[in-house]
Amino acid sequence: MNSLNNIKHLILDMDGVLYCGNEPVPRLREFFAFLRERETPFMLVTNNATRTADERSKQLAGMGAEVFPSEILVSGQATARYLRRDYPAGTRVHVFGMAALKQALEEAGFVLADTDVEVVVVSVDRDLTYEKIKRAARLLRGGARFIATNLDPNIPSEEGLLPGSGAMVAMLAAASETRPTGVGKPEPIMYELAMTQMGASPETTAAVGDRVATDIVGGKRAGITTICVLTGASSRAEAEAGGADFIFDDIGHLLDAWREAISRSRQS
Ligand SMILES: [Mg+2]
Repeated sequence: MNSLNNIKHLILDMDGVLYCGNEPVPRLREFFAFLRERETPFMLVTNNATRTADERSKQLAGMGAEVFPSEILVSGQATARYLRRDYPAGTRVHVFGMAALKQALEEAGFVLADTDVEVVVVSVDRDLTYEKIKRAARLLRGGARFIATNLDPNIPSEEGLLPGSGAMVAMLAAASETRPTGVGKPEPIMYELAMTQMGASPETTAAVGDRVATDIVGGKRAGITTICVLTGASSRAEAEAGGADFIFDDIGHLLDAWREAISRSRQS
């Protein structure tokens, strides 16, 4: 895609793109108003499995952006859908993570358990204890499959970069001497699920993200146009080295460039 004017469907990352922690990025409300006005379908796709789609929708509403829960795909839901390809409803799964992730797996039909499990699903746990680490590591040593919602080492916040799912995964991998499979970006599965839901084709879809190693690499694997914004994890030099198709300071600057591309195409 050589012009933003060709975007028909948009996929947006959340942390570091729409907000950092509880702090919305500048012109967030205006950006979503533009998408609604232009009737451009979009989906928000996040590796961060610490909150449900409902909770993310409410969080955004508090920042002035109206996004429906059905327009949000969280890696916890994606992990549940991914696992259901291989395991029937009723399969026992241990969750090392927060309530939102547990809910996603239960809604997909899995039984949450601490013993005799086939799979251990790992994500961020803000209440982690030695006992929890010990339990998960022992289940992994016992042969349970090691699945991570994502491998991001950290999460951008107003305090800076905080420990993410990848940090928890690294600890459990070291303790159990086993290796995980990550479901979230840069695996293309979440982008593919989002495109299927929107009825989008890769040639006219663009993904906006802040982290080159996940958002941009994942977008390339899914065959879609990639847009890197600099409000989160990656710098301009990293975005250039990673081969992002477009780079902007933030979504406000993306919005300006998009409007300009539209008006240019009208004139020609
Ligand atoms: Mg991000």
